[in-house]
Amino acid sequence: MRRITVFGATGSIGQSALDLVARDPDAYDVVALTGGRNITQLAHDARRLNADLAVTCYEELYYELKGLLADTDVEVAAGPQAIAEAAARPVDWALSAIVGAAGLVPGLAALAHGTTLALANKESLVTAGPLLLERAKTHGATILPVDSEHSAVFQALVGEDMAAVERVIITASGGAFRDWPVAKLATATLAEASSHPNWDMGQRITIDSASMFNKGMELIETKEFFGVDPEMIEVLVHRESLIHAMVGFNDGALMAHVGPPDMRHAIGYALHWPDRRHLPVERLDLARIGQLTFEAPDHARYPALAIAQRVMQMGGLSGAVFNAAKERALDGFIAGQIGFLDMSRVVEVTLDKMSATGGLQSGAITLDNVLETDRLARVYATEAFNQLG
Ligand code: NDP
Ligand code: MG
Repeated sequence: MRRITVFGATGSIGQSALDLVARDPDAYDVVALTGGRNITQLAHDARRLNADLAVTCYEELYYELKGLLADTDVEVAAGPQAIAEAAARPVDWALSAIVGAAGLVPGLAALAHGTTLALANKESLVTAGPLLLERAKTHGATILPVDSEHSAVFQALVGEDMAAVERVIITASGGAFRDWPVAKLATATLAEASSHPNWDMGQRITIDSASMFNKGMELIETKEFFGVDPEMIEVLVHRESLIHAMVGFNDGALMAHVGPPDMRHAIGYALHWPDRRHLPVERLDLARIGQLTFEAPDHARYPALAIAQRVMQMGGLSGAVFNAAKERALDGFIAGQIGFLDMSRVVEVTLDKMSATGGLQSGAITLDNVLETDRLARVYATEAFNQLG
């Protein structure tokens, strides 16, 4: 039996992972499941999968969760520290599927015992990529990408020599507003931004897909994870979301990864890696689909892409600023405090301010520096959006 832990088990990615686990319960010994507000789901899954431990990140929900599991022998804990402690329990495989920078510390803790970490939490690569990779190297741990584009690149690279790679192309659906007049974007509402043409995902990443902050994050994620130069990474708008990424080699070949828009593919690939096993995802009928389309991204519609390019060039702690300012701006948009287009302005102003004060590029990427940069960026981003409002 493989010992596994799922961080962010109650979310969109976490639930897709538990769907795969529940289909073959005898294969897994579930050590810990973590969640946030949705303790009903957390308790339900901890019970049915017979987890050793269930943790919510909210301390105030401890007694409620404890009550829901009172008649079981599932251990219960609450708070960010309890999640970090859960991460310190050795497992063979862990899934990092918390949303936001809160995923960084548990991911680092899991790597410290040499586990295989399936990484959906792109924020940790964007804020502290070098730290994560170094931690994995030091402890003989493996990081496997779960983001669909990065899983696709990873699969296209199996057996290949990185020295032969010329370009990495990640695709984007274009999000909810791909057909809106650019002038109308300023009026976009939360409900309008929260629906995705192809994927069913958590609310935050769905809004980030409409703004392409998600693709900006993924550019940085590609640079960090695969160690390729920013100039080699391209974004291609592909409305059908069937080709997830392509890798271009020095002989002109492009290896494309094609699959249904179902995260259980990328999660399942990471779960069974290095093997391939049967997965319960749709088999594509390409004759029925008929055609696939491609367009260059419109930078006027998606300013987040240029900001991400700038961050890739800057390197250092600028990824931590980008992510934290983006998270804060997204909080502001969700709370109705700022408009849709204000999000990219807030991130830009925050980056300008923090790069002017220095240290962003030269500062060492230690956990303390990353957390402090994240904290400061949220303060500056809040100031920026208060000025806009
Ligand atoms: P969801 O919002 O659906 O789920 C997030 C999970 O994290 C939930 O379990 C939530 O608990 C928990 N959580 C929220 N805040 C905290 C916190 N502060 N500390 C600890 N746990 C917390 O997100 P997704 O599943 O969509 O995304 C998860 C990650 O995967 C993100 O990094 C996202 O970018 C990435 N990703 C997602 C894809 C998708 O298809 N959804 C595709 C590719 C990458 P609760 O809900 O109980 O409050
Ligand atoms: Mg993705």
